[in-house]
Order: sequence, then structure tokens, then C-alpha cells
Amino acid sequence: MLSDEIYQQLAALVGDKKITREATELSYWGKDSTSLIANAAAIIFPQNIEQLQAVVQLANREKIALVPSAGRTGLSGGAVAAQGELVVSLRDMNSIKQFNAVDRTVVCEAGVITADLQAYAEQQGLYYPVDFASSGSSLIGGNISTNAGGIKVLKYGMTRQWVAGLKVVTGAGDILDMNKSLLKNNTGYDLQQLLIGAEGTLGFIAEATMRLTRSPENLTVLLLAVPSLSALLQVLAHFQAGMELTAFEFFSEQALQKVTTQLQLQRPCDEVGQYYTLIEFEAKDEAIVDQAMALFEQCLEQGIALDGVMSQSQAQYQSLWRLREEISSVLAQWQPFKHDLSVPPSQQGEFLLEVEKIISELAPQYQVIWYGHIGDGNVHLNILKPDELNKTDFDLSCKLLSEEIFKHLASYQGSVSAEHGIGLLKKDYLHYSRSDLEIALMKGIKQQFDPNGIMNPGKIFS
Ligand SMILES: Cc1cc2nc3c(=O)[nH]c(=O)nc-3n(C[C@H](O)[C@H](O)[C@H](O)COP(=O)(O)OP(=O)(O)OC[C@H]3O[C@@H](n4cnc5c(N)ncnc54)[C@H](O)[C@@H]3O)c2cc1C
Repeated sequence: MLSDEIYQQLAALVGDKKITREATELSYWGKDSTSLIANAAAIIFPQNIEQLQAVVQLANREKIALVPSAGRTGLSGGAVAAQGELVVSLRDMNSIKQFNAVDRTVVCEAGVITADLQAYAEQQGLYYPVDFASSGSSLIGGNISTNAGGIKVLKYGMTRQWVAGLKVVTGAGDILDMNKSLLKNNTGYDLQQLLIGAEGTLGFIAEATMRLTRSPENLTVLLLAVPSLSALLQVLAHFQAGMELTAFEFFSEQALQKVTTQLQLQRPCDEVGQYYTLIEFEAKDEAIVDQAMALFEQCLEQGIALDGVMSQSQAQYQSLWRLREEISSVLAQWQPFKHDLSVPPSQQGEFLLEVEKIISELAPQYQVIWYGHIGDGNVHLNILKPDELNKTDFDLSCKLLSEEIFKHLASYQGSVSAEHGIGLLKKDYLHYSRSDLEIALMKGIKQQFDPNGIMNPGKIFS
């Protein structure tokens, strides 16, 4: 906890109105989208990189643990202050500073909301392609620190691919200005890449130069009902061989039922599938639409699709996507135990069936909901809490289940966290995806950037 004296020193750096230890503010700003409980000492809102650096330097002198905080939509507890840390929110460092039409880059502070960057790119006739259901609340600094993925990874890759330069305050309190928009820069170790996905354990991202790209033309989505998991994967292979896709997402019939019932939405098609897929592509001309229709009809003929609907307007495009994007918030009422798993795309059919078998043998009373980015080999497994079970007992039994799931995952050389990061929630399982040597090297890197161990201690590893 912070002494009054240190609190006053921090207030002197940012101004009295930009620091708080009021109880409701502590619990609000001290947590993310997990159910982990906040126990923050104070929240501070630096207004610029100089103030941010001064806070980090003071924290080093006084050995104060810091938790970087952005939009707090994280799903791994990375932005949770559980041990009396000082939360440093980048919320107020939110200006879009500079656009370069030739380089197709934009310089933005870490606190820019993801959707605002997308809208800014659109105003310039360009496109920022990293997108997910929390784009309206997550911040660029948080996206970079988790190397966020989302629904367009199949074509555009993860956040990492869109970072052209970073300005960082390291855990030691130094400013690093890295890469500065260069496309080619083979000058030794690429330190910038270490900060991407580091979950705030090495330093603060203060500013980022983000790449933009050409806007996609007439994005269109085809929703198919499919009879089984193996059919779903055959549909994926069929479409990938036949045309260029921008997204290939999936969800189960149970997920669809929850979303349509809770939000009183229409079911998208007459036939009931075991799974549904959303296949997105650029309908640049009639030939591409005809090709998509031909592939769809071939899937029907082969019995790997049962029914389908193609968006005919922007409104229909959005209502079909809504069925997928609302799943996470609709499921929240069941306090699900979430997994964010990835295995090589070719092996996910076999893997999913094995996981289902494990759960049905060890915990047949639990309802399981699958959805996610199956085109990327990344599935979200949500185990719903039965009403009669309290959250503590439920979480405990899910943790035991997790060990079994992760043992199988390790045999596929899969990842215990495809895109949400490790944070607090997954750190006990890191060893299933990373070797002892890798973890030791990571700790060594942290020591270089953050010699006093003040940056998000206890996150990723202890
Ligand atoms: C409904 C919903 C849907 C989602 N869908 C997806 C999805 O499809 N794909 C996906 O990848 N994620 C998804 N997420 C997870 C989350 O939105 C992303 O991880 C997002 O990038 C987190 O950004 P944030 O601004 O909320 O970061 P926060 O949660 O505030 O922080 C995330 C991590 O970054 C660190 N951090 C934050 N800012 C900085 C900074 N400036 N410098 C250094 N470290 C920092 C924090 O300490 C923490 O460890 C979803 C979440 C929700 C609630």
C-alpha cells in the first residue's frame, strides 16, 4: 500500500485530479473483464510521456509495483491489481497525432480506443484491420500488449503485424523510441517485438505507429449450418482452396440458441446444424459472388453444409456478424470458465473431440459452448457454471479439468493462450506451452527491462 507521503509525491507529478484512492474507483479501475477481485492502492492517470516516465522513475526509487491499464477488456487478469499495486491508466493519453499517407501509418498515443483508430483510418480512405467484439472499449496500448487477434487474423494477422514503431517507457524508467516506421530494419535484435504481447511486464507502451491498409471492398458474409465438426473443417478447406477469405469463424448450435433467445434475434436459417460458420470475403465483383455461391452449393451436394444465407445488404451483414460477436457478452451471465486454445488448424477436429470426451467423462454435468476463430486454429471453450454450484467450487473443479485438457493440448504442441495472454489466470499453465529454458530466458529479458521488478509483477510468471 502507498504511504500518504508517496501518494502526495505522485499527485505532484500529475496533478491532484489525476490520481485517486477512492474505494469505488479502486475497484472499478483495478480490474479487467475477468472475475478476479481488485485490490489496488491507487489509480493514476498520466497526461503525457514525461509524466509517465516520472511515475516510473519514482516507482523505481520507492519500489512501488505498477499495473499498466488500458481498456480493461482483457480476459486473463493482466490488468488486475490484486496485490495493492498502483494502477497506471493510459486512458488520458489518447490523441491521434500524425498521419502519413505515403507510408500509410498513423502515430497514436496508447490510450486511443481501437474503434477510434478504425474510424480514423476510414476517414483517410484506409483500413485498420484488427477487430473484435471489444473494439469499442479496448485501447491500442492494451491491444499491443496482448498482441490481440480477433476476427480477421486469417487474412490480416495479429496486432503485431500492424505495429510500425513504438515509443516505450521501460521498467527502468528510460524512454526507447523504436523502429520509427521502417519497413526494413535489420540492425540486430528487434526489441520492439519483445514489448508486443509482453502484457505490461517490461515497460509501458506510450505511443505507437500503426500501419493501415487499403479498405476492403464490399465485405460479404455467408453463414452456413453444418452437420458436424468434421464437416465444418471440410467446409473450411473447400472455401480456402476456392477463394480468398477475410474471416472464417464458427459457433455451436448451443451458442446460437443462447444468443437468439437472450437477445430475441431471428435464427439465421431454417435447418439446424451442430455448428455454424461465418465465412467473410470481399465481393469485389459478380464473379466472386458466383464463386462463393458455387462453393456453397458444392458443400450442400457433399452433405457438409445443410443450409446457408448470404448477406445482401450492410444491415444483413451486420446482423449475421452480431450472432457471433454477442456470444461472449451473452454467456457472461453463466460466469463461464474460459479457455482460449490453439492447435495446428489441421489437428483441431481431433483435438476438439478429445476435449469434449474429457469433459463428458469427468464433468458430464457441465454445459460446454464452443465458438471462435476456427480458421486460425483458435477455439474458445466456455464451460458454463450450473446455477446450483457456487463460483469458488466451480472454478476449482474447472482448474482440475484444465490440467487434463492442457495435458492433451501439450501433446498437440498447442497453446494455452492463443490470443488473450497469460496474465494471472493462465500462468500456472504456461509450462504446457513453453519449456523451462524459454521461461528462464523470458525472466532474464524481464530483468534487463525491469531490474527492480516493478512492472506488473506476478503476471505471466511469478
Ligand atoms: C467481448 C470481448 C471479446 C473479445 N474478443 C477478443 C478477440 O476476438 N481477440 C482478442 O485477441 N482478444 C479479445 N478480447 C480480449 C481483449 O479485448 C483484448 O485482449 C484487448 O486487446 C485488451 O485491450 P485492453 O485495452 O482492454 O487492455 P487491458 O485489459 O486494459 O490490458 C491488457 C494487458 O495489457 C497491459 N497493458 C495495457 N496497456 C498497456 C500499456 N500502455 N503498456 C504496457 N502494457 C499495457 C495490461 O497490464 C494487461 O496486461 C475480448 C474481450 C472481450 C470482453
